[in-house]
Amino acid sequence: MPRCWSPWTPRGARSPTGAVVIEGPAVAWVGATAELPAAYIDALRSGQAEAIDLHGHVVMPGLVNTHHHMYQSLTRAVPEAQDAELFGWLTNLYLLWARITPEMIRVSTQTAMAELMLSGCTTTSDHLYLFPNGSRLDDSIAAAEVMGMRFHAARGSMSVGRSLGGLPPDELVESEEAILADSERLVGRYHDAGRHAMRRIVLAPCSPFSVSRELMRLSAELARERGVSLHTHLAENDNDVAYSREKFGMTPAQYAEDLGWVGRDVWHAHCVKLDEAGIALFGRTGTGVAHCPCSNMRLASGIAPIGAMRRAGVPVGLGVDGSASNDGAHLLGEARQAMLLQRVGYGPAAMTAREALEIATLGGARVLGRDDIGALAPGMSADIVAFDLQDVGHAGAGHDPVAALVFCQPGSVALSVINGLVVIREGAFEKLELKPLLARHRKLARALFERARHPHIA
Ligand SMILES: [Zn+2]
Repeated sequence: MPRCWSPWTPRGARSPTGAVVIEGPAVAWVGATAELPAAYIDALRSGQAEAIDLHGHVVMPGLVNTHHHMYQSLTRAVPEAQDAELFGWLTNLYLLWARITPEMIRVSTQTAMAELMLSGCTTTSDHLYLFPNGSRLDDSIAAAEVMGMRFHAARGSMSVGRSLGGLPPDELVESEEAILADSERLVGRYHDAGRHAMRRIVLAPCSPFSVSRELMRLSAELARERGVSLHTHLAENDNDVAYSREKFGMTPAQYAEDLGWVGRDVWHAHCVKLDEAGIALFGRTGTGVAHCPCSNMRLASGIAPIGAMRRAGVPVGLGVDGSASNDGAHLLGEARQAMLLQRVGYGPAAMTAREALEIATLGGARVLGRDDIGALAPGMSADIVAFDLQDVGHAGAGHDPVAALVFCQPGSVALSVINGLVVIREGAFEKLELKPLLARHRKLARALFERARHPHIA
């Protein structure tokens, strides 16, 4: 059943008469309303199609989030982790996360997805790398199913605990045999390689300081055998680089290359400290980067050289990162921060508003290895969002509505369509009751702190 929107705003130019037509999970037609084919007009007149009037809105492809740890929405603004850098921050939070339950994974993932969807995101990855108390990646996947969000579920892992020189406590690590067996199971059960796929599995050992070289290699082998992508953290800050040099005698980029962790099927989170040779390597091999500007600022990691990466041909997408290192997960807000932070580091021409939007849509699609999302064009997945620019935050910004999305304080979407289905209409979820979900989330976040304070009760 086709649906039409008006107006549509192509390539940033203001068009008061635009329309997008959706049939099934895909975009069928895009253009000026005056040129709408007769068949669609007939369908509208006969009531076979639904029309949604979006006068005064900017309509655009849904944003793509390439890095997150959704369970962390339970541990935002934790006092002990407010002012630490990466390693200290992790050490403070691991003990808390060790008390997480399967229900906490489900509810926190749903909550994090609700927040992302309201901010314009329609496709997200989530990197879940700890599975305490019987939690499984299936819990995240079940949450995505309820939310109707396009989901790349990254099967994270940690295998080197403190007793073996790693950073995480021993109670949070798994055996490498169990990690690989579960990865196989998940790919077999959930991975959909097809066009418009709603579920994909990614293999994602957590970071060089929490897994062995062997697990990185075996994960890469398994991923290539099964045709799934690879994801991890890399070169996040100076300590991360120092750890790599000391433990492996290599820069993070050399280590990634040595393990087979470069290529179009691989993307690394952060890469704030990727050196010149690393940027050239990633550009040559098409290795992707998830840029997380808020998290990099929150943890004082630095400013990632995004301009140099893009000039070298590195695919770059955006990530809000986990809710404990970016306590607000607004993806359009992240695009705004990406633009502003590049300007702090590299001058006022370092990133335009449209470049920030391109990174947030097509850039993310490329990083996730998809050519069916990130743009409004016939044949692309019908992932479409609309922002109402008639609110106070956009007053006076009608000169360039597309740029205004990034320059002005970002609001919530008025409409979100994922895979051809309306999930948010007039700013409210179609099916989800947000208030009870948030009440349950608050309760579980409190319970998690209680469990950590009094472990004998758990
Ligand atoms: Zn992360």
